[in-house]
Amino acid sequence: MAHTKALLVLENFIGGKFVPCSSYIDSYNPSTGDVYCRVPDSGKEEVEAAVKAAKDAFPIWSSKSPLERSQILNKLADLIEHDLEAFAQAESKDQGKTITFARTVDIPRAVHNFRFFASSILHHVTECTEMPAMGCVHYTSRAPVGVAGLISPWNLPLYLLTWKIAPAIACGNTVVAKPSEMTSVTAWMMCQLLEKAGVPPGVVNVVFGTGAKAGEALVCHPEVPLISFTGSTLTAQRITERSAPHCKRLSLELGGKNPAIVFDDADLSQCIPTTVRSSFANQGEICLCTSRIFVQRGIYSEFLKRFVAEAKKWKTGNPSDPTSDVGALISKEHLEKVRTYVKKAQAEGARVLCGEGVDPLALPPGNQKGYFMLPTVIAEVKDESCCMQEEIFGPVTCVVAFDTEEEVIRRANGVKYGLAATVWSGNVGRVHRVAHRLQSGLVWTNCWLVRDLNLPFGGMKASGIGREGAKDSYEFFTEVKTITIKH
Ligand code: NAD
Repeated sequence: MAHTKALLVLENFIGGKFVPCSSYIDSYNPSTGDVYCRVPDSGKEEVEAAVKAAKDAFPIWSSKSPLERSQILNKLADLIEHDLEAFAQAESKDQGKTITFARTVDIPRAVHNFRFFASSILHHVTECTEMPAMGCVHYTSRAPVGVAGLISPWNLPLYLLTWKIAPAIACGNTVVAKPSEMTSVTAWMMCQLLEKAGVPPGVVNVVFGTGAKAGEALVCHPEVPLISFTGSTLTAQRITERSAPHCKRLSLELGGKNPAIVFDDADLSQCIPTTVRSSFANQGEICLCTSRIFVQRGIYSEFLKRFVAEAKKWKTGNPSDPTSDVGALISKEHLEKVRTYVKKAQAEGARVLCGEGVDPLALPPGNQKGYFMLPTVIAEVKDESCCMQEEIFGPVTCVVAFDTEEEVIRRANGVKYGLAATVWSGNVGRVHRVAHRLQSGLVWTNCWLVRDLNLPFGGMKASGIGREGAKDSYEFFTEVKTITIKH
């Protein structure tokens, strides 16, 4: 296609050097619909070179002490933080998210990921047991595994990529990372800082390109013994199949269809703004976003009225405008997909209370071709509707009524996913009871997205395999050995 403006052209980062690729793919600015960047369309050859560089770097990197690695991770965190504004601008332009979200969530968290694992790697202890009668002591030791393959999605690009790179290299592995082909820019910017941070060549290699070519080449590479993947359940199934012949270690962080359960004794002044946020933050493009809201019948009408009024306060507009609350969706195709769900719900007899097709969407002249959608609230959706069963991953949330605790637990669990849930009630006994019975890797009661990175993060059922966090990531990215000493 013809390009009028000079485009940003990315290059792969292999063995500490930027390397051009023989072919490229277009990357769009979701808020304008224009191509603004070209991303390497890497395949087997590029992945081969990156794995070789990572293998070559492994002996030196893995033999550094945790303290030496920790210092380098901290330095990298400082460098990203120093350029926070440039990273935030780039993330917003590339992904469509608001500049405010990129400034306050994405990039600070990417910085924190490096600092967190720089610290946690210094504090792990291994196990030891004694068998006096046998004259034996047993202990465990942990060692890095080798070259880690890291594959990340487009919704929180640098945030999720660094959530994998940081623990992988803190543990002494070297990595080949493949960000989403739709949001590659901030990973490329990070590569520009690696040398200055003291990361030796080959420790972090980034290969850009599609899942089908670059992603699969990484998954199928015999010398990449572990794959850490965040993305859709469908892709995870494919990765599982393709990696099976090599018996790879897999960490899979996948989609969700997250319920919020609002009991009639909930504090609605807290619950409503938080649930609007949990439904529409980052355009609803967070795996942890709420998309099914179960409200106890006695407060259903009041909840709906207040919830819709609050949702309407969220301003959809140019992502670079700091007053925008909702930016653009990632792509034209994704916007169409999300719209289709709303149309299906309407065809099934559900009521769209605000947003798509109901309220006017006023956009500045420069954003007319962008992929925007208003926060959309749908009521009276049947539990078996695809809107209540499938991950929509956009600014759409469904609100339905329930009567009893028993009923709502059954209905909340009645989907294939099990990632995150929220429970709203002033009754502490009830929140414990319900939290225990929900099939969900994370349950937030009377709050949302309050994270302690020390603790396990991940999903049940079709939402994933494995957990990430201080101890969980350490265990995933290291190989354990039990050693017995007899005297
Ligand atoms: P996706 O599965 O389409 O792509 C994710 C990554 O996998 C991309 O880098 C893509 O290029 C790559 N990929 C695609 N096909 C591949 C293949 N055959 N082999 C290897 N790699 C391949 O997901 P997406 O659309 O980028 O992201 C949205 C999804 O991610 C949603 O389902 C969301 O819930 C999920 N997600 C989960 C979490 C979590 O922590 N559980 C966090 C964020 C996003």
